[in-house]
Amino acid sequence: MADIIDGNAVSDRIKDELSENVDALADEDVTPGLATVLMSDDGASETYVSMKQRACENIGINSVHVEIDPEAPEQELLDKVDELNEDPEVHGILVQMPVPDHVDERKVLQRIDPMKDVDGFHPENVGRLVAGDARFKPCTPHGVQILLGAADVDTTGKDVTIVGRSNIVGKPLANLLVQSGENANATVTVCHSKTQNLEEKTKAADIVVAAVGVPELIDGSMLSEGTTVIDVGVNRVDADTEKGYELVGDVEFESAKEKADAITPVPGGVGPMTIAMLLYNTVKAAGLQHGVEVDL
Ligand code: NDP
Repeated sequence: MADIIDGNAVSDRIKDELSENVDALADEDVTPGLATVLMSDDGASETYVSMKQRACENIGINSVHVEIDPEAPEQELLDKVDELNEDPEVHGILVQMPVPDHVDERKVLQRIDPMKDVDGFHPENVGRLVAGDARFKPCTPHGVQILLGAADVDTTGKDVTIVGRSNIVGKPLANLLVQSGENANATVTVCHSKTQNLEEKTKAADIVVAAVGVPELIDGSMLSEGTTVIDVGVNRVDADTEKGYELVGDVEFESAKEKADAITPVPGGVGPMTIAMLLYNTVKAAGLQHGVEVDL
């Protein structure tokens, strides 16, 4: 039976450490500030943004929220980003994705000052990550990396199969794990919807990371005994609950836990880590902008 990796416990520990960094910044008269920008009326996006705001407030980060009418022209969002780039009390800017179809996501990401890019999606920060000199590591992949370390899963020399090649999870995670250094040094295979014989790749892995967005795609029959399984997926599926849905991952938990050595649950695995790493990047951004070193 697998160990269940408790993302809530690890994220709470990180938040405690960050509170100390926030106190150290307060001694320099600096209060870290995060601006969240929402240009959507999608319920899930609204929930994510309010969770991020609440998490900020809990550790003393100043949270500024901006809402832009989803029908507004792209320029309105770009102007708002310009304004936040200039605001000395805002150290981090997060534009909640997805933006409406008439807005060019790449243009928005490139507009954010790279020093305030706490999502780590600006091309300058992506380039630095690939070159092994990351400034802001993208929150979800960084959360996965820290979670592996906290669960005492040694990645050195291990075969990691990542299912999913998105710019926000799969690709940056592959880049993080393949670097030399702590919680890295892995041999990484990245799979996607055109991959042939997916099961062969997941069975060959010591560590499987699922970031697909397909409910319970990976089940126990696709895993070897003793695999570490990290489930990034968050999928709403219809269920007989008060809300009319429940959250499930990209891994079929019940069968996977019979094969795995360690496994993350959904919810309570990677999700809380994503938020903790966003807080970390925000505090780090404030530190960088005021010459105070922030590290975990
Ligand atoms: P994307 O939709 O951007 O990417 C999904 C990836 O999975 C793509 O590369 C796609 O391949 C691949 N894929 C789809 N179907 C298959 C299949 N049958 N076999 C193999 N590969 C497949 O998703 P994201 O990366 O944004 O998110 C992935 C999941 O993680 C979602 O459930 C999302 O909700 C969740 N998530 C959770 C976060 C958290 O904090 N816990 C944060 C971010 C995301 P192709 O490129 O060929 O289309």
